[in-house]
Amino acid sequence: MTDPTPRPVLVTGGNRGIGLAIARDLREAGHPVVVGCRSGEAPDGLDAVTLDVTDAESVDAAFTEAEKIVGAPMGGLVANAGITRDQLLLRMTDEDVDTVLDTNLVGAIRCARRATRSLMRAKGGRIVLVSSVVALYGSPGQVNYAASKAGLVGVARSLTRELGARRITVNVVAPGYIDTAMTEELPEDLKATYRGLIPAGRFGAPEEVAAAVRFLVSDAAAYVSGAVIPVDGGLGMGH
Ligand code: NDP
Repeated sequence: MTDPTPRPVLVTGGNRGIGLAIARDLREAGHPVVVGCRSGEAPDGLDAVTLDVTDAESVDAAFTEAEKIVGAPMGGLVANAGITRDQLLLRMTDEDVDTVLDTNLVGAIRCARRATRSLMRAKGGRIVLVSSVVALYGSPGQVNYAASKAGLVGVARSLTRELGARRITVNVVAPGYIDTAMTEELPEDLKATYRGLIPAGRFGAPEEVAAAVRFLVSDAAAYVSGAVIPVDGGLGMGH
């Protein structure tokens, strides 16, 4: 089913993994979608712009280019680009901390700031920040990552208070363990341990995260803002 209001949406890190699944699903829902990716290379059947979330000029240029492609101000942002640099805190370097925070948290803030300009011109819209179950559940070896993802909740809730009256919603999706390149690199024994902790007994699929994003971008979610929606097979259970 397509949404009644086609909303031009920019998806960061949309060239693979969860971002690509989100981009395809939003496209299927009838939204004009532009994928932001560092290489600028478009995935099959989607428009793409070059976008590095660690560079404010790149973010600005990506929005401008995306708006040229769709011929309208962007009406939505899915801030999905993210990285891990896992290490126990004792061994974690400043660079591990800075790079993860600059990409996952500050990168999302840069994109949300630029998106806000467009969404106000569009007289409303949607911002969805892709966080993680780890944000509030915690995870050994992921102090930098958990901090970056927990920060997104504060961003969404503060922005909700700033923009709520302008028909702009800002929400967080918190995936659990999802089958992508990011989890592929985990050792098999660790994956088995995680599976044992997940009530659903399995990792999720990128498409299952996309379904939650699709709802948040839709007209039906107009009264949902500042929410954290888990897509984690029950792992975090309300966190
Ligand atoms: P992938 O590693 O498969 O993809 C990460 C994406 O982010 C890639 O498109 C990558 O681009 C992009 N990216 C990284 N750094 C930048 C940057 N500086 N500027 C622009 N794009 C960048 O990860 P997933 O698809 O698994 O994860 C997507 C999001 O979901 C992330 O935010 C992640 O933290 C979150 N998440 C993932 C979970 C999982 O289990 N997989 C669980 C919970 C949350 P490039 O191709 O150029 O490297």
